Amino acid sequence: MLLIDIHTHKHAEPDPGVLTLPNVIVSKESIYRTPCSAGIHPWYIDENFDRQFDTLKMYQQKEGVIAVGECGLDKMTRTPWDRQLMAFEKQIELANELNKPLILHCVRAYSEVYAALNNKHNQVPVMMHGYSKNWSLAESLLENGYYLSLGPHILKGGMMEVINNIPLDRLFLECDDKNAKISEIYAYFCRVRKLPLQDLQQQILLNFKRVFNYTI
Ligand SMILES: [Zn+2]
Repeated sequence: MLLIDIHTHKHAEPDPGVLTLPNVIVSKESIYRTPCSAGIHPWYIDENFDRQFDTLKMYQQKEGVIAVGECGLDKMTRTPWDRQLMAFEKQIELANELNKPLILHCVRAYSEVYAALNNKHNQVPVMMHGYSKNWSLAESLLENGYYLSLGPHILKGGMMEVINNIPLDRLFLECDDKNAKISEIYAYFCRVRKLPLQDLQQQILLNFKRVFNYTI
């Protein structure tokens, strides 16, 4: 039995039976465990972006860095929009050069994220982390080919329609920066969807291997 937590900011070792993908925020953290993702977060874009981007490129050369991100666009942060867009577009290009998936942070900017990915002719898998909106938005993201990752937010009970309808081969689960246990999120999803835990666990493992090109 292996549970995958596809996006976490926890530095502590994962529980037994859990494989996590810790996210390294370039300029705030360095690589502390692999496999991991590494990216420039829209909240933390340095004045000297070129140097920050060089650091990201250097991290991406290391063994076990299997995704670019989290990166993306955020309408609720103070970072100027043109800086966010520039940093996001550079990371889309990088992910495509390296042929690694993108882990996206998106706050109130879904159409702008879509436009940027399109502009850059993105070809790599895209995973929206911490998806917490409604089913109709989820449907349009799924139509664009994106993967959705659901977090501890679902435990509050407001995500029934998404849980009941999302194609399981487009799904990931995560703890993000919260104190929840990934096993609780798996269990909750299975309870709502009326799905055996083993089936969900197998499917997400398959998704992980396929999207992140990872061999366990
Ligand atoms: Zn995060």
